[in-house]
Amino acid sequence: MKNYIECKNCLVPTENSPVNCPVCGTNYNDGTGKRIHVSEEAREVIYDWGGIYVEPIIIEGTTDYLVWCESGVLRINSEGEILWKKFLATVSNLEINRDHFSVHGRNFDIESGESI
Ligand SMILES: [Zn+2]
Repeated sequence: MKNYIECKNCLVPTENSPVNCPVCGTNYNDGTGKRIHVSEEAREVIYDWGGIYVEPIIIEGTTDYLVWCESGVLRINSEGEILWKKFLATVSNLEINRDHFSVHGRNFDIESGESI
């Protein structure tokens, strides 16, 4: 039987027993060491959208992250607050090109999350 630990900050499960979350760096014992802060509000969205798909991607020239979840994408700032969120049903492919990102051939503005 495998033992999964779920990160209290970013909700990513890991089956090994590391001290720190491999995605956000949070120490499982004392909660320190966060590289990426996730607010309560963002955590709820991440949970609803099936969890983080890949490690959050820092947006060039900012301290914000693009968080790719199984069924949507959101942008959070360094405090973990949501700047925008875009529900997309399934996101199995995402590319970032400076000022926009593409999901399955559809382009979205990285500043607003709106379709372009
Ligand atoms: Zn984490």
